[in-house]
Parts: sequence; structure tokens; C-alpha cells
Amino acid sequence: MTPMELRNEGVWQATLPAEDRRQLEADDGLPNGPVDVLVVGGGIIGLAVAHQLSLKKQRVQVIERGLPGDGATGAGAGGIWPSDQGPQHPAGFAPLALASRDLWGRLSLQPDFAIEWRVNGFLTVNSNRFGGDAPSYATAAQEAGYTVHAVDGDQITQLEPNLKPGWAAGVHCASDAHLNPLRGAASLLRAGRKRGVRLATRTELTELRQAGGRVTTVLTTRGEVSAGNVVVCTGAGITLLSGRVRPVSGQLIATAPQPPLLKGTVGGEFLTLQLKTGEIVTGGTLREGSDTRPDGELSERLQAAAWDLIPKLKGVPFERAWCGVRSATADGLPVVDRVPGCENLWVATGHHRNGVLLAPITGLLLAQWLTEGVVADELAPLRADRWNPGT
Ligand SMILES: Cc1cc2nc3c(=O)[nH]c(=O)nc-3n(C[C@H](O)[C@H](O)[C@H](O)COP(=O)(O)OP(=O)(O)OC[C@H]3O[C@@H](n4cnc5c(N)ncnc54)[C@H](O)[C@@H]3O)c2cc1C
Repeated sequence: MTPMELRNEGVWQATLPAEDRRQLEADDGLPNGPVDVLVVGGGIIGLAVAHQLSLKKQRVQVIERGLPGDGATGAGAGGIWPSDQGPQHPAGFAPLALASRDLWGRLSLQPDFAIEWRVNGFLTVNSNRFGGDAPSYATAAQEAGYTVHAVDGDQITQLEPNLKPGWAAGVHCASDAHLNPLRGAASLLRAGRKRGVRLATRTELTELRQAGGRVTTVLTTRGEVSAGNVVVCTGAGITLLSGRVRPVSGQLIATAPQPPLLKGTVGGEFLTLQLKTGEIVTGGTLREGSDTRPDGELSERLQAAAWDLIPKLKGVPFERAWCGVRSATADGLPVVDRVPGCENLWVATGHHRNGVLLAPITGLLLAQWLTEGVVADELAPLRADRWNPGT
């Protein structure tokens, strides 16, 4: 039997409103004179950094080798899931993730931020994810600062009436949220542009020349840029931290819009959710490496698992499949730091499965550091030199 072949196009690209598409495709070119900060990479991290710097009155230029959202940002699931994700992370994750979730919530109230924000929770029914003992797992997670509660079978049915019956226990993260990551990127850009942020699309960083502990020359495929500071946010495309960040590909599949079937995100064998626009999305797999070709056999497994989880979905074909490449570190936390030995070069990468969640706090803390010299305590676990390559 040949593996299932689905249309290879992300659901976010396929459903993006025209104004957001214009925002992501518009090319402002390179500046004529010097800028305060050059941000390299137009993913959600680079755009959040640019947005926060613009709030601090910095002249900011972003360069992106393709279009913003071309990387992991346009391929993600859009989960703002600090409490679901947090318990798997070192302690430094909690303050960053919880604050960043709230920053997204506040941004969602601003007119420029049409991001399909919903606080619709995350329900885990796969007992492997909570070690079989939901109350103990929830207590430990609460002690670590997260909003996690154990639920029984009746509560699972109340939360998600369309799941297959028979669950004995689960854990629920009521304050976890969801947004459209590509619209998030477009919104950060829209708000940034109003404060002077410029974006050069199809412009690749080719060389950073350093002398005397500073970046002195920045070369791109469209010429030289003169910048006081350079922040590299190239996701899995990073070359500054060789050995510390590795690529991990992930796959999602989606149906056409369906009538309401799910309220929040469900962690079964895979994560499954229904978008505001009605599509059922499932996947979020982990495959070491940078392969972005959807795997037909995996699509088939994902579809079968979704049909099993939601009986009313059975027989509804999934139509599209797509992959993206995350940047992962050994301890699961990102690297957000000044590059050791270079006083005007900064890096923000390694956000792995939580870059959309962590984008606003990454931008905020980096902008404070660059403009006010304030190094927040929360950045200590994110230092670039916290481990040696290969360990
Ligand atoms: C399947 C999947 C599901 C996910 N689900 C979630 C989720 O639910 N919640 C969540 O928070 N996160 C999720 N993530 C992770 C999230 O998408 C990433 O952590 C996040 O997008 C990283 O953003 P970034 O800006 O660092 O990288 P990217 O989005 O990859 O952006 C980097 C950009 O840099 C550009 N670039 C690279 N090199 C150069 C260069 N030399 N010059 C100029 N530009 C360059 C690239 O073209 C790219 O656009 C998921 C990821 C995947 C793949």
C-alpha cells in the first residue's frame, strides 16, 4: 500500500487573511544609513525582538532570507501551553513561560493583534504523559508554579464531550491558550512597522566580521548594513552556536473546517486541537534532523489516532500535511544571551517546542538588556556558555 499523500501546505499559510499576507510579503528594503539594531531572522522570535525594541524607540532593521514565517513559526501548532509543557522543563522555564503567556494575552487586546487568541485549555488523557498518577503529577506541577489539575472520567467528558468514552483520569491546564502563529508574526510586524521597524525580505546574512570584540561589518545578499547591535534569531538556521543547538523536525496534519468537535487542545497519543476556523489539527511529532518532507506513513498514523480519539471525526479525511524544523538545546531551554566575546552581538534561539509561547518575553528581556543594560534574573538559565558543546 502506498503511504498517504496529503497536500504539502501549512494550514496557517492556506487560511491567512490578505492583510496579514501583505504584511509578511511587503519588502521595505535595507536602510540608507545606520540603524540601532539589526535583527537577523523574521520568525516569531526576531519579530518579537524587533517589536519590543521599537517600543524602546530603537531604529530596527529586520532581514529575512525568505519571508517571515517561512521557518518553524509558520509550521507550528500555535500552542501557548506553559502549564502543559512546563513540568518537563528545568525550573527556569516557569517564570518565563507564565509571563510570556500573559504578555500574549495583553497583546491580544491591542487593535494590531488579530491573532485568534483563545484561553481554551489543554487536557491530557494520555496517562504516559502524567506517569499514570494524575493527582501526584498535578500536585508536583502546582508546586512548580503551573496551573494543572487532575480530572476524572466525568470531568473529561464535561470538558470534551466528543472524545471517545472510558477515560479514567487526566490532567487539565485551564489557563493554557492558543493563537494563530502566522497571524502572531504578522501582528508583531504590523505593530513594529508603525514604530519604524523595517523588514528586508529575501535578504540573507552572509557574514559578520568582528574586530576588537565587536561586530564591525555586516554583509548580506543585498549589501552591507551598518548597525550598532546585531541580534541573531535564525532559529534552526543558527551558525553561531555550533554544537549547542540541533534541528528537530515536526509534522502536523489538518482537515478542512469541521463543525465544533473540540473546545481545547487534547494530549492523546499526539496533540489534537480544533482551530477557530474549524480545522482539526493533529501531530506535533519529533524527528531529529532538518527534513521538512511530510512522511506519508506518519500522516496515516496521525489520522488513525485522531479518528480513534474523536469518534465523530472517523472517516473525515485529513487534507494537508506539513513539517517545520525547531531548534533544540540539551536542557530544553533556549539560548538568549550576548555572544561571549562580542559586545554588540546577541543571540536568541533554541526555543524548540515553545518559541511561539516564549516570543514576547524573549523580546521584552532582550530589549531591556540592549537599551537599558538591565539583565533580568530570568535570563541566567538561558546563557550561551551554560554547557560545552557535546555535553
Ligand atoms: C510541528 C511544530 C509544532 C510546534 N508547535 C508549537 C506550539 O504549539 N507552541 C510553541 O510555542 N511553539 C511551537 N513550535 C515551535 C515554534 O514554532 C518555534 O520554537 C518558533 O517558531 C521558533 O521561532 P524562531 O523565530 O526562533 O525560528 P524560525 O521561525 O525558524 O525563524 C527563523 C528565521 O530565520 C531565517 N533565517 C535563517 N537564516 C538566515 C540568514 N542567514 N539570514 C536571514 N534570515 C535567516 C529563516 O528563514 C526563518 O524565517 C512548533 C514547531 C513545530 C515545527
